[in-house]
Formats: sequence, structure tokens, C-alpha cells
Amino acid sequence: MFGPVEDYPRDLAEFEGRFSTEDACRRYLVQLRWPEGFRCPRCGHVKAWPVRSIWFQCAACAHQTSVTAGTIFQDTQPPLSTWFRAMWWVTNQKTGVSALGLQRALGLRSYKTAWAWLHKLRRAMVRPGRDRLTGRVEVDETYLGGTHPGRRGRQTETKALVAVAVEVERRQLGRIRLRRLPDASGPSLLQFVQDAVERGSLVHTDGWVGYDPLRRHGFKHRLTFLEGQSKSPSQLMPHVHQVVSLLKRWLLGTHHGAVTHEHLDYYLDEFTFRFNRRRSRSRGKLFFRLVQQAVAVDPAPYESLVKYARFPS
Ligand SMILES: [Zn+2]
Repeated sequence: MFGPVEDYPRDLAEFEGRFSTEDACRRYLVQLRWPEGFRCPRCGHVKAWPVRSIWFQCAACAHQTSVTAGTIFQDTQPPLSTWFRAMWWVTNQKTGVSALGLQRALGLRSYKTAWAWLHKLRRAMVRPGRDRLTGRVEVDETYLGGTHPGRRGRQTETKALVAVAVEVERRQLGRIRLRRLPDASGPSLLQFVQDAVERGSLVHTDGWVGYDPLRRHGFKHRLTFLEGQSKSPSQLMPHVHQVVSLLKRWLLGTHHGAVTHEHLDYYLDEFTFRFNRRRSRSRGKLFFRLVQQAVAVDPAPYESLVKYARFPS
């Protein structure tokens, strides 16, 4: 799905040298959005005329579009170079980003703007329709935002219930998916697993009744009953618990645990984005991925969402 050329700045000096003008930023977006050349979003034609260096007019159907149309950059006031600085900054903070941190780094006047930007970038970190986890996947839920564990199956005012799925390959952690859930009921958990995990995969959970529907919906289901075991849950399902403890440490360290429910979704997506690219050595490459995903628009969002909700036949 991605173009072959991975072209990105290696350090801040290179970044600043390359992306100081609107034109340079726009050219980079064009390169990432249409790696094989322009393609008309309306008719698929590959030839276009430039209009005032911002617009492309399709040579076949005369549809006018820009490289930012239909992306998170569409209809935004700030210059692209400011967006680029935001994306560079977000991907270069190893421990993650708060809205206040972004506001300071970019010298934005309003906290609200910084917060809104993070939420826009979040859409580029986690896109609907991405690949599901496969193979062997451990799934569990955890409560975040409180010191006392909540009772399963209900949401408390101070704690958020978060579902966690992690691929396990040869005892190594693979990719993860995280999502805040309204409750730990069967329908909520099934929806999460269906969205996060490829049907036919082996899903490993504890004996919570909420996971009972999995087998009926095409998953192989391995159960580990925690009650009456001499081993602790973290010994019985070590991988998912490892992810949970890394997530909690990250939230505590970067955000001092002060994450409200309305911010939590952003942080979960950011953590996932970083975690799934944790082996990538270059921060510039993370920047590249974020920009790439920010312009990777779906040509038919509704259709793909419908397809996404259905099982492959
Ligand atoms: Zn066209």
C-alpha cells in the first residue's frame, strides 16, 4: 500500500532546511499522496493540469482538487509548514506529547487549538480499515485513570475501561490495538475483537463470560481461567499485561496520569502508533509515516467502512 521511496529528513537541521516554505511542504505531500503520480479522486484519470500551483485540474473530467483535499489538512487555517512542525515535533518526542507541550513548542496562542491539532493527527495515527492483528492474539481489559480496580462490567466515573489486544509471535510482542469500551459486556468485547483481530485467529483470553461469543463468530478461542490458579494473571497472560504496564507507565510518566476520558482516546492512539513502530530506529521515519497516513485518504470512505464492518467471506 505504500510507495517504494522512503524519503524523510534525518534531523532537525535537515527538516528545517527542507520544509520552510508552503511549496516545499505541498510537494512533499504530493509525493506521499500520489507516489505513482497524480490520480483523479473522481474518475481515476492520471493526467492533470496545475492551477495556480495549488490545484490540480483533471484532464479527463475537469474536476479540481488539491493535495490536501479530503485529508486532515483540508480547510485548516494555519500554513502547512506549521502542520509539518507539529508532526515533526509529535514524532520526535520519544515519550509522547501533551496539548500543552505542543502549544509551547509551536508558540500557539490557544491551548484549544493545540488540543484540536492533536486530535486531528490522531486520525492519521490510526486509520479505520487498517490491517487486523493475526496469528495468536492475547486480549484483555484494564481500567485506567484510577488507583483502585473497578468492578468488571461497569464503567465508573473516574476510571475508563480499555480493551487491549496484542499479537504474540514466538513469545515476542507484535502489534497492538487499544480501545476505550463502554463496558465489558459480550457485545462490546466482540465488537472490539472483530475490529482488531482477523477472523480465524487464535484469541487468548481469561475466562470472563463476555468473551464467550468469540467462538461463535469465527475465532479460535483459548481460555485461561484465572480463578483457582496459583499463578497470577500477569503470569498466565504475560504479553497483554506487559503492554498494559507499559501503557500505564507511559501515561504516568508523560502525562502524570492526568488524562481525562475525553483525551484518553488520543493517547491510546498515540501509544499504539509509537508502540507498533518501536523498532524503527529513525524518528524521521515516524514523521514520514505520519505524513504519509495523513494524506492516505480513502477514495470511497463509506463503502470501505461498510466493508470494514462485514466479515470477509
Ligand atoms: Zn477526473
